Amino acid sequence: MMRPDLQAFRQMRERETASLEQLSDIVATASARIALHAFDNSPFYRELYSGAGFSRDDVVDAANFSQLPVVTKDLLRSAGDAVLAQNVAPARALSSQTGGSTGAPLHIRNDAAAPTAAMWWRIYRWWGIHPADDMAFIYRRVRQGKEALLYAAQWWPSRHFLLDARAVTEESIQSFIAQWQRVEPRLLVAYVEGATAVAAHLERTNRTLATTAVSVTAAMLQPGQRELLERAFGAPVFDTYRSAEIPWIAAECSAHQGLHVAADQRRVEIVDATGHPLADGVEGSVVVTDFSNEVFPLVRYEMGDRSRTIEGACACGLAFPRIDPVQGRVADIIRTPSGKQITGGLSGLFLESPGAIRQMQIVQHADLSITLRYVVANPDASGEAVALAVDKLRRILGAEVPITPVAVESIESAAGKARLVISEVRS
Ligand SMILES: [Zn+2]
Repeated sequence: MMRPDLQAFRQMRERETASLEQLSDIVATASARIALHAFDNSPFYRELYSGAGFSRDDVVDAANFSQLPVVTKDLLRSAGDAVLAQNVAPARALSSQTGGSTGAPLHIRNDAAAPTAAMWWRIYRWWGIHPADDMAFIYRRVRQGKEALLYAAQWWPSRHFLLDARAVTEESIQSFIAQWQRVEPRLLVAYVEGATAVAAHLERTNRTLATTAVSVTAAMLQPGQRELLERAFGAPVFDTYRSAEIPWIAAECSAHQGLHVAADQRRVEIVDATGHPLADGVEGSVVVTDFSNEVFPLVRYEMGDRSRTIEGACACGLAFPRIDPVQGRVADIIRTPSGKQITGGLSGLFLESPGAIRQMQIVQHADLSITLRYVVANPDASGEAVALAVDKLRRILGAEVPITPVAVESIESAAGKARLVISEVRS
């Protein structure tokens, strides 16, 4: 069962030291290959590309890839099973669903033949973690029945235990901590919100749980949260970018200067509103292509997130390109009475004082007024930090928008995902 994954793992490791030229060849070839597979075998893609004026020969040409139409969740939802590649055995389709927190859920299929385990192994290795190490998870339970058995077999003989991120209570945290003390895991893999809840509990009870690395996903990691997690677990925190549709897209390395895209497995493009790639450093919409899902091809798939590419080589020596941590949802827009739209730059409000505020959320009400909700980490420093943040926000929005800071106990999240911006404005 493991042999194909081991082979893929070896190849992935070789590619980490590829030259930029070799890597760009790998990306171009893989992009054209999966686009052609989609065109040849998925009725949805055939119609989409033909309708946009692309012939089979156009799709074969790697130079045309970034002109192919972007695929949205809405398009996939209405296409239904027409997305499925008709030449792939149905047994390879693993059903999954995207979260419903930002719209209607989408039924997608992961490819059982994709070397997903090797993708984990590779990224864990960047963090000093071996696949056989014991691990703790704060996650949604996603595998059931046959898939759960398959998963357990993949991981044998290491020990894994889980805190269900949808049911975090005092009792479940207590039993998670007890399991932790028995197993002493080397890695914690968690939704940001779930990990924050456990870390806050540890801090309240004056305890820490030691480990080697903490990996977080599914929400924006705010500076105060990173600091809290590093303190509670005595380990570096590694931000990752992944989703139910496309696992393992990008991850932080030990340099913690952006997330490396696993470029031999996924292509990440940052594009403008018309789907055209933007220059390095310019914030735009994240579009991802999965090279290894042949069941339910995802080619130039719009994630609904915003980020930017980072120029230059990373200190760690990995050849893979980097992106900024995701800056929030494309839908998270704040408006001013004069019609200005603010789509970014909001995550840095408390950047100068990460120890003072744990987390924040900006709520814009129907009358355009703003409530800045925040969770206090250090009561002695929070007053000043909030005044500074309100001041910054006022400079971004102008004096016409009233801003009210409100301290809260916690910030609600749907299935472990808290949103930075909530807009009640009808657009
Ligand atoms: Zn690096």
